[in-house]
Amino acid sequence: MQHLEFKDKRVLIRVDFNVPLDENLQIIDDTRIRAALPTLRHIIKEGGSVLLTSHLGRPEKDKDDNGRIKRHKYSLVHVVDRLQKLLNCPVHFVDDTKGQGVIYAAGALKPGEILILENTRFYSEEKRGDKTFAKSLANLADIYINDAFGTAHRAHASTSIVAEFFEPQNKTFGRLINKELENANKLLVDPSQPFVSILGGAKVSDKILLIERLVDKVDTIIVGGGMAYTFFKAMGGHVGNSLVEEDKVELAKTLMEKAKHANTEIILPEDSLCATSFANLDDPPSYPSDAIPTDSMGLDIGPKAIERARQVISEAKTIFWNGPMGVFEFPGFANGTLAVAQAVATATKSGAYSLIGGGDSVAAINQSGLADEVSFISTGGGAMLTLLEGGSMPGLAAIDENYKR
Ligand code: AMP
Repeated sequence: MQHLEFKDKRVLIRVDFNVPLDENLQIIDDTRIRAALPTLRHIIKEGGSVLLTSHLGRPEKDKDDNGRIKRHKYSLVHVVDRLQKLLNCPVHFVDDTKGQGVIYAAGALKPGEILILENTRFYSEEKRGDKTFAKSLANLADIYINDAFGTAHRAHASTSIVAEFFEPQNKTFGRLINKELENANKLLVDPSQPFVSILGGAKVSDKILLIERLVDKVDTIIVGGGMAYTFFKAMGGHVGNSLVEEDKVELAKTLMEKAKHANTEIILPEDSLCATSFANLDDPPSYPSDAIPTDSMGLDIGPKAIERARQVISEAKTIFWNGPMGVFEFPGFANGTLAVAQAVATATKSGAYSLIGGGDSVAAINQSGLADEVSFISTGGGAMLTLLEGGSMPGLAAIDENYKR
């Protein structure tokens, strides 16, 4: 952005304003709007005008009885006031994403003003990556900026296809995407050793590519959450009713072999807190994770596993964390996740670099009140995982050839 001239230019910016709304359509958490402010402030200060596009929710999956989009429920009109308050500049809204109304509204925009276009996902063309739809957006502006990291792994019309209609010198990343990339590079390019990755969450299947990629990069992978039990099963352990992906047991074996060859240690939780049903328990019993009674399931890592994780994390110089260590939504099974959050914060204080990527670990770090004590929290769970996996990132590749796969 630093090299572009914005004075009297109309700038189309794809942001991620997919904020959670309550039943009265009030914003519950405006983190995503705040994350876009540095880019917006820069353009306004430089004398440009801004056209904002974003999606909000999944309107295509929640239509009314007549198969129509619920326009009010998913309208970006709900973010207008908040953005205006945060930026202190005129913010207009047009209730469409393409067509004459949008063209007029864009034409009437003055330098220093912002126009929010309606939810891009009101048109199926968005997710299809339709070129005509993308071109209609591109025609509105002189410059295109992608600052929606959360959707950078999607080849949607407004996140990647639109960029094809701008010359290389007239398109760029915004500040948020740049910050995400800088932080991802701290893991991908020459990370300080020891590099410890903490992986949790429900399923191994969601994390396979990530584990395969990390095995060559990290010194240690601490595995927790439901995915641990597929590994125990692979080693012949008894995991009771714990979550196991039977069709991934062989793969878990292969991943462990790969780790061995790469000299990467995979640490599985020695013990687990268990319950006989998927429900909260105030004082759950702990069992060795490979000897869980047949009527029980592991829902959190146990005290010995926490101790081991703490010790390994305390020695780390680079930390990547994705996925909770247990069903942290149940207070009786939140301990492992909160202990890991605390350990990551403590290691960060002692000089380690820590990146938290992925929805549920972000919720966990927020729940623990330690969000300010880690190095970086990614705004895009899926996008950050795809980037670290080395997967396709159309939203980045459309602007920077280095991201072409
Ligand atoms: P993910 O989206 O893959 O990061 O998974 C997050 C979800 O995994 C959370 O909702 C947790 O409740 C769930 N989870 C974590 N540990 C377990 C476990 N041991 N058994 C079942 N679900 C779990």
